Amino acid sequence: MLDKTMERAINRQIKAEFYSAYLYLAMAAHADAANLPGFAHWMRVQTQEEIEHGMKFYKYVNERGGRVVLEAIDRPPEEFESPLDLFEKTLEHEQHVTALIHELYALAVEQKDYASQVMLQWFIGEQVEEESNATAIVETLKLAGDSGNALIMLDRALGSRGG
Ligand code: FE
Repeated sequence: MLDKTMERAINRQIKAEFYSAYLYLAMAAHADAANLPGFAHWMRVQTQEEIEHGMKFYKYVNERGGRVVLEAIDRPPEEFESPLDLFEKTLEHEQHVTALIHELYALAVEQKDYASQVMLQWFIGEQVEEESNATAIVETLKLAGDSGNALIMLDRALGSRGG
């Protein structure tokens, strides 16, 4: 049986994962409007991943005999300054999510909740990936600078993201 404090904390994380999906979908909408279909595709794949993260927590709460309670999802920002801004905000957001996952892990350690620790270890690894992917794209965009050609090539590369 899942402890009530942990249950509440995971329910908050479900909200955070679905907010992430919403944020990346807002970024996809911005990229689509800016005629950057590859960026938009990348953001939509990211949206799907975030929904999967939310559903992983959902499933886990049920498996442990807890109760999933959904909270209201905040409205994501509408405007972004540039492709670089999109990925700087992606990186910033993923760093924030990493901190949330680490807090959950600390709670699981404090409560000697070993099952939650194992479940959260997957997310800890996933966050390393997320931050590394976003950092690589931020760096590429900085190298590209104001070059339209480089941006078009990067748009093509991002458009080939699987998932
Ligand atoms: Fe996530």
